[in-house]
Amino acid sequence: MNKSLPQESCPKNKIISIKAYAKVNLFLAVLNKRKDNFHNLNTLFGRIDLADRIILRSLPANEIKVVCAHGSVPEDESNLCFKAAKLLQQRCKCNCGVEIKIDKRIPVGAGLGGGSSDAAATLIGLNKLWRLNLNQKKLANLAKKIGSDVAFFMYGLSFAQGLSRGEKIRKLPQLVKLRLWFILVVPEIHVSTPLIYRKFDELLGLTKPVCNVKILNSALRKDGPFAVKSLLFNSLEAVTTRIYPEVKLVKKMLSDLGLESILMSGSGPAVFGLVSSRKEAVTLGEKLRGQKMPWQIFVTRTI
Ligand code: ATP
Repeated sequence: MNKSLPQESCPKNKIISIKAYAKVNLFLAVLNKRKDNFHNLNTLFGRIDLADRIILRSLPANEIKVVCAHGSVPEDESNLCFKAAKLLQQRCKCNCGVEIKIDKRIPVGAGLGGGSSDAAATLIGLNKLWRLNLNQKKLANLAKKIGSDVAFFMYGLSFAQGLSRGEKIRKLPQLVKLRLWFILVVPEIHVSTPLIYRKFDELLGLTKPVCNVKILNSALRKDGPFAVKSLLFNSLEAVTTRIYPEVKLVKKMLSDLGLESILMSGSGPAVFGLVSSRKEAVTLGEKLRGQKMPWQIFVTRTI
């Protein structure tokens, strides 16, 4: 990656627009705490069609500027898109600049991986905008340095297994044709992922998984989405519901509506219910909206 791109060869007035999809975790087992304070995970990611839009516009100097109208998203160097752009500049010795506009649709701090996906989209988009020609492997290695969930979004996969901190990605070719529909409910709580992991350690895990990604993968493939209700699992769910009882309320409301496969995603508070079709999700969405709770409700599918 010792490429040098002098400023005069930077693109002028070029714009790239790219979608940054969200994820849900259909399975998330926290295995153990490591010496570096991260946790080893075994997770099944599903990419969903709820998405932010990232608009990259070339700037003449090597400046990086982030613009986002959402109040909870930082516009300074702590933004994951800023980090992605800075990392590319440093690794590729590139002097080009960029304005990164984030059109935020994915709820923030919800366990849906919005910031990570934005960072992945920035890496992919800038590789094109700045003509860096990095291959997927090199880009994925950079992704790991930004955050544990960024790597998953680099591959454009609907499903994948995440190991180690979640950044070690295994493709699941058996699930390529699978499409799942969800009703996704996001209560208006901003959950801090580090806090949930700290509490998880204090409470010594609370629950143990009843299966693993391999079993879930096989059940999805052979028996279809509705054979998996007892296999969906998230180690962090018991912790988040203790601190934020509203997550439990969301789960209860979905269960009262007749759903059986319900799970919190990541560290929460987003909760998804697996449904058989878009039609079923739309009907349930209307019923839930009628309850007038302060929740965001989405009909979404894997993509
Ligand atoms: P994680 O589990 O990684 O915390 P999440 O899906 O729960 O992810 P995000 O929406 O990614 O939550 O936001 C987590 C935090 O990251 C927010 O508090 C926000 O301040 C910060 N952040 C940095 N960059 C971004 C970005 N581009 N979009 C959203 N949040 C960002």
